[in-house]
This record gives sequence, structure tokens and C-alpha cells, in this order.
Amino acid sequence: MSNPFRDLPSIARLLDHPALAAARARHSQDATTAAARAEVDALRAAIAAGDAPALDVGEIAGRVASRLDSEARPALRTVINATGIVLHTNLGRSPLHEDAARAAYEAGRGYLNLELDLATGTRSSRQDAVRANICALTGAEAATAVNNCAAATVIVLRALAAGREVIVSRGQLIEIGGSFRIPDIMAVSGATLREVGTTNITRVADYEAAIGPNTAAIMRVHTSNYRVRGFTSAVELAALVALGKKHNVPVIDDAGSGQAVDLAPFGLPGEPLVSAGIAVGADLVLFSGDKLLGGPQAGIIAGKAAHIQKIERDPLMRAFRLDKMTLAALEATLRLYREPARTLREVPTLRMLTTPLAELRRRCEALAERLRTLPGVTAAVRDDVAYVGGGSLPDVAVPTAVIAVAADGVSESELAARLRTGTPAVVGRVQAGAVLLDLRAVFEHQEDELVAAVGRTRFGERET
Ligand SMILES: *Cc1c(COP(=O)(O)O)cnc(C)c1O
Repeated sequence: MSNPFRDLPSIARLLDHPALAAARARHSQDATTAAARAEVDALRAAIAAGDAPALDVGEIAGRVASRLDSEARPALRTVINATGIVLHTNLGRSPLHEDAARAAYEAGRGYLNLELDLATGTRSSRQDAVRANICALTGAEAATAVNNCAAATVIVLRALAAGREVIVSRGQLIEIGGSFRIPDIMAVSGATLREVGTTNITRVADYEAAIGPNTAAIMRVHTSNYRVRGFTSAVELAALVALGKKHNVPVIDDAGSGQAVDLAPFGLPGEPLVSAGIAVGADLVLFSGDKLLGGPQAGIIAGKAAHIQKIERDPLMRAFRLDKMTLAALEATLRLYREPARTLREVPTLRMLTTPLAELRRRCEALAERLRTLPGVTAAVRDDVAYVGGGSLPDVAVPTAVIAVAADGVSESELAARLRTGTPAVVGRVQAGAVLLDLRAVFEHQEDELVAAVGRTRFGERET
């Protein structure tokens, strides 16, 4: 019997093979050699494990070429979001308006007056670019912005309450995806959490009983990603503000989702308006930039000028401040709110969330018809529900339409994997027997690419 290890091609032979010629021209000598070694190592391991892999040199050289190409692709790639989840945290939450994306692009590729007052030639604050717009949106007298709402919470608690107590209801001790837990955030900030009430019932008297000489603030945390139902009672923000006034204790409202246009008329009730907290007299309101506001990742802090000044003087501000690209995108996003009539149409997140079901059905029908022309593909339109995502409107099942796509001889999980690993990547919802494509978060200009992506799953293996 021959020794299969001896039949492995040499690296030199692989590198000289014509199947690698084109890839060699695109990639460095080192990368090509490394890819060839990796491919031969994988075959050697397979033989050692008792397998008998095909050892055709041309085939192996072809695999080296695809390995090189896939290794050279950027790690972050465009994804067509066919999940129907508009604020998909794993897919980057809000897509930016063209103006905001362009502002970030221009800021990134050149210089800008980030901290320079062009009129006087003197130094200015980078926050000036967004301050007035946030004040207009929230009704607050002052505002500032940091990297995300988690950072906003930390810096607010630190600036206002380090070494002292902050009162929070036990019904609001939230965890937001991953490691954002109110008790942990509180610990990081140096403030002491003073829990009051129970999971389902907290009364004004519970808060009042906890107020003492060491109380620095009362904080209301919006239960963004869950709701407490049944026999429940929570204290309205206005009542907390009244209590705070009585005892001279500031009230902080962690509002979370950043809803600046009322979405309740569109069947999306339950998120606080960013202006509501200020209207009832909260000292500070905090919310995310990339949830319902529809902008870049940011944490917005709006409220009383004295508190904002204290926050901006905190040394953590240097670590938490926004970079020039995000600030530019945030300013451009906030500008879209200056004309309320345009906002719903212009902010992509809001446009997607308020797309009527009839329009989604129409788009699905048209797209399904195109998909059905692909050989071996079946595509049927049906009604379904989807969630908003991003820790917003957790219990609102939004009616939607989907295309259930199946391909002959390919399981739904394999079809989903091929879509996910193609270029552009497509992510849908996998269900028994089909991959569901929801068009709510798919841009109309992506529909041709989506059809082409499904078509490509009929050929060859997935790209990795
Ligand atoms: C989402 C959320 C946060 C965290 O916001 P990020 O911008 O994701 O850091 C904090 N608090 C509440 C209430 C939230 O909904």
C-alpha cells in the first residue's frame, strides 16, 4: 500500500499550478505560501485522522485560491437585513440617513472645525455641534453626548452621585444585552444603589422612606426590553419629580430608546418620548442615539445646565466623548428632526418601522414572483410578526409580510448559511422548511441584490 502522505503535493508544486495564477497576482507571496501550507496541513491532518481526501493538485490549488480570497475580505461586510428586526443590535442597529452617513464620511476623510470656533479662531467645545439640536428635540436647557447610553448612565451617576446613594425601584433593575446591568453600572460609577419596592409594586412612599442625608438622586430606568404585567404599580416620573423637589433631590430618567416622534399612532406604543421627561421636570434624561432616534451609536444626556456642566468637567468625559465621525453623523441625524413632517419619511429607522403592512405585502409579492423564476426555488408570501429589537417595544409584535423561500435539495439551515456567507451577506429568519425574508428592513435598492443572492445559493458551496 502506498503512503498517502507522500502523495500530498509540495508547496512549490501548488504555487506553480495555473489554478493559482490569478490569485497569486492579487495576493502577496507570503500570504499565498501561508494559504498553501494551511491547505496542505489540513489534508495531512485529515489523512492522519484516517480519511482519504482527494489529492488532485488542481483542486487543492483552487481551494488555496478561495482561501486566499476569503482571508483577504474585510471582517465587517454589508448585510442585507431580511430579519424584519429594524434595530438589530448584532447588525448595527440604526442605518443612517444618507446625509448622516455622508457627514461621517466627510468628517473621516478630512479636517473639520471639531473644537475650533471659525468666527473667532478660538477653541470651542465639540459638543456645540449637537447641543442646540438636542435641546430643541427634548426641551432641555442644556445637553451633551457620549459614546452610548451605557456610558451616559455611568458618567451621570459618577458626576452626580459618586460616594452617595441613588434610589431605584426593584422593578427597574434592568439588564440590557450583555453586561449592562443597573447594579453593575452603579458600582462602576462609584454610586451606591438603594433598591426600593418589589419587582411588581413600588410606591411613592417606598422612595420617600429611602431618602436620607446620603441620597444623591432618584433614578427611573425605562424597562426597555421587558414589561412587568399583572398586579403591578410603578411610580410615574411626574410623581418622582414632585418627590425630588420636596426633598431637593435630583431625578434622573434613563429613557433608553430615544423616541422623538410619537410612534403610538403606527401601532408602536409604550416607549417614552425624549421630551416627556424634561416636560415633567426631570433633571436629566438619557437615551441612545442608535435606537428609535435612528442615528449613530451615542448616548445623549439632556437636562439642567448645572448638571451638564458638572458631567462635562468629569475626567471620564475625555474617555467617553464622541469622535468626529459620530458627532458629524449625530448632528446630521438631529437636523432631520427640525421639520417634523419630513422626519418619519427621512429617518430610515422610522420609515422602516412605519411602513404599512399593505406596502410590505406588495413588495413581497413582487419579489416572490422574481424569486420563483429561479430554477429550483419556491417562494410564498405570508403574513407574520416581527419585533423592533434593540431593547425597544419588547412586547409589540409588529404585523409584517414575509417571503418563505426554499430551495430544492437544500435544507433551510444550509440555505440560510449560504445566504449568510455570500456577498452581500443576507440574514433572514430560519423556520421549519424555509428561510423567511422580511422586507421591512431591506432597502428597496437592495432588492435586485437580494434576488441575485438567492440565485447564487443554487450554485456551488458557500463562501467562507
Ligand atoms: C438601551 C438602553 C441602555 C443602553 O444603551 P446603549 O446605547 O446600548 O449603551 C441603557 N438604558 C436603557 C433604559 C436602555 O434602553
